[in-house]
Amino acid sequence: MDDKVINDYIKAGKIWKETIKFSRKKAIEGKSLLELANEIETKILEEGQIAFPVNLSINEEAAHFTPNGKIEDDRFLKKEDVLKIDLGVHINGYICDGAITINLDNTHAKQIEANDLALENAITKAVFGKPIEVIGKEIEDTLKQKGFNPVYNLGGHGLAQNDIHSYPSIPNHANGSTSLLEECAIAIEPFASTGKGYISESPQVEIFGLKEGKNVRNPYGRKLLFIAKNYSLPFAERWLRRESKLDDFSFIVGLRELMKAGAFETFPGLKENKGTIITQSEKSLLVLENKTIVLGE
Ligand code: MN
Ligand code: MN
Repeated sequence: MDDKVINDYIKAGKIWKETIKFSRKKAIEGKSLLELANEIETKILEEGQIAFPVNLSINEEAAHFTPNGKIEDDRFLKKEDVLKIDLGVHINGYICDGAITINLDNTHAKQIEANDLALENAITKAVFGKPIEVIGKEIEDTLKQKGFNPVYNLGGHGLAQNDIHSYPSIPNHANGSTSLLEECAIAIEPFASTGKGYISESPQVEIFGLKEGKNVRNPYGRKLLFIAKNYSLPFAERWLRRESKLDDFSFIVGLRELMKAGAFETFPGLKENKGTIITQSEKSLLVLENKTIVLGE
């Protein structure tokens, strides 16, 4: 890996770490998630670039939930909530992707500790030339020993320039993979579940990606598409609402036309059954031939 690229990753990691600290302070009881999301993203922009809309997923929600920007849909953090804050920072497209779990009344402290331990144990297995499956096995073994299931159908991933989900996949369980770790950037992200450990897609979609070469006639759709073309990475409905300044009706019409035309790919909310509690911890790493660098440390 080029020195300049390594430095960009390390810088993104530093900003990620600062933003995580900032987020912990801001996530207080009664906090508006819309306000929290905006504060976190503004904080990232002080020194870096946003790699994807901050994910604020609660309780049975595992990932891809973020406020949609409508004040009437806003949610407020309760002390018993289990909130996953997953945020990404990039420098020149080189991304640090990482997450923590917050539970203000500490009812789920054991699960969060188990999840953090699973991540720390997994990181020790992220070594150049070693099998990728060992990382997944370590996550699964650690979580099961503590009485939780990993979320089997979610996992970590490679990171590449302007690409948040690239090769290789990093499983959260022993999945039979025979691949070896090459020199690369990866995110390891165990999720612990009190349920069976299988998430499914929610009808709720708040995060999108741009597909090239599509167009629409509808003027609201055209306006939204024009804005979306500025994003080389995933973006939020909330950002489109804010930047387009369209009223709700026009916004929905525009977005519907774009969806019909196939102009956007979707990242639907991912969740388990109601009553299940899911935690997450995630860090990004550079796996180099002679060492592994954990970003943000
Ligand atoms: Mn993440
Ligand atoms: Mn990730």
